[in-house]
Amino acid sequence: MNGLPVIIAGGGIGGLAAALGLARKGVASIVLERANELGEIGAGIQIGPNAFHCFDYLGVGDEARAKAVYIDSLRLMDAVDGGPIATIPLDDHFRRRFGNPYAVVHRADLHGVLLDACRASDLIELRVSHDVTRYAQNGDSVRAFSDDRDPIDGSALIAADGLRSVLRQQMVGDGEPRVSGHTTYRSVIPTEQMPEALRWNAATLWAGPKCHIVHYPLKGWKLFNLVVTCHNDVTEAVAGKPVSKDEVRQGFEHIAPRVRQIIEHGDDWKLWVLCDRDPILDWVDGRVALLGDAAHPMLQYFAQGACMAMEDAVCLSHVVEQHRGDIETALDRYQRVRRVRTARVQLDSRLIGDYIYHPAGAIAEVRNQIMSTLGPQEWYDRLAWLYGGTGLEA
Ligand SMILES: Cc1cc2nc3c(=O)[nH]c(=O)nc-3n(C[C@H](O)[C@H](O)[C@H](O)COP(=O)(O)OP(=O)(O)OC[C@H]3O[C@@H](n4cnc5c(N)ncnc54)[C@H](O)[C@@H]3O)c2cc1C
Repeated sequence: MNGLPVIIAGGGIGGLAAALGLARKGVASIVLERANELGEIGAGIQIGPNAFHCFDYLGVGDEARAKAVYIDSLRLMDAVDGGPIATIPLDDHFRRRFGNPYAVVHRADLHGVLLDACRASDLIELRVSHDVTRYAQNGDSVRAFSDDRDPIDGSALIAADGLRSVLRQQMVGDGEPRVSGHTTYRSVIPTEQMPEALRWNAATLWAGPKCHIVHYPLKGWKLFNLVVTCHNDVTEAVAGKPVSKDEVRQGFEHIAPRVRQIIEHGDDWKLWVLCDRDPILDWVDGRVALLGDAAHPMLQYFAQGACMAMEDAVCLSHVVEQHRGDIETALDRYQRVRRVRTARVQLDSRLIGDYIYHPAGAIAEVRNQIMSTLGPQEWYDRLAWLYGGTGLEA
């Protein structure tokens, strides 16, 4: 390291986690966020046991645990006949197996926990309204440019600038993200608005042909998170557009009325067209590294994008400490440790979208038959590669 701080472009979950991880190793950073304020959208997020390991490593374990809702199970339901397919218990056996719980949390709460910890650190400077547009580097440092600000020099630049990362474009140049053709609608409602019969303490997934619905409680059970997704082959990327309930209803005519009815309970629906990218091998250019969605954007079907961003932050801070004084070697090590695991989540997320979330006919029947016969231990064994991870080298 050359005495300069690390520059982090992007103050989302990944960028803040990276700043915190580096601070724990005594490394100063400046987080540059494009938006006028630091925050997250009003929706829920699922957090696997691997994310709880990250919270502890980043020094915010207690604060994150206090915000979470501890659900009893992950439930997979058939949206066509309305019956159960599979249940994965998240009880003490699960916790013992993975050393941590599985939970759900409001995004703003999760982001807030990281933000509070960043604000409390003398080693982290947070700057908003700062749009990073490109970088340049010489052998000793890297310079981050923006159109209306003085350039900033750092010992390294971490590009945590999300799905549409401009820094990735400079480094990798692989164009726009892949539009999946899957449209997701989100709504967060007061718990009283959720039908009593569906107020389950579970992350519930109703899987139907080319569509699915997810719901779970949030904020100490005051709210319910609804996520409704339709594989309608749209070709244009959209993020956070308000839409009418009528629009959300389209594409769900073929599922059981009791399941379709869930849409009626939502308000203020917003639309996202889901995008991802193919995995790549190189996310590092000298003193510049991609992190989180900038590096490995994925469909949300494993509910792991933010978890992977936090694992990246853990790994990054670990290798920076290991290779103190040699940032380029540290960043190279970081991508070598992270790339296969994150690529697997990217690719498997697509697969489970096709074969578990959205199949019809024979494929749906195969899914139901195989998944309904698995017991808890078999589920845990199948998920061990994912939930047993920590971000650190095995
Ligand atoms: C419908 C849906 C459900 C999901 N559910 C889950 C889930 O249950 N569990 C889970 O783990 N993950 C989930 N994810 C994925 C998760 O939301 C993302 O993977 C995660 O938020 C990525 O964090 P990030 O910090 O890498 O990027 P982002 O959250 O996109 O943050 C990037 C930040 O960089 C800023 N920025 C952008 N460009 C610049 C620039 N040029 N200069 C400065 N700042 C810039 C942005 O304003 C933003 O603040 C879901 C995603 C979707 C779409």
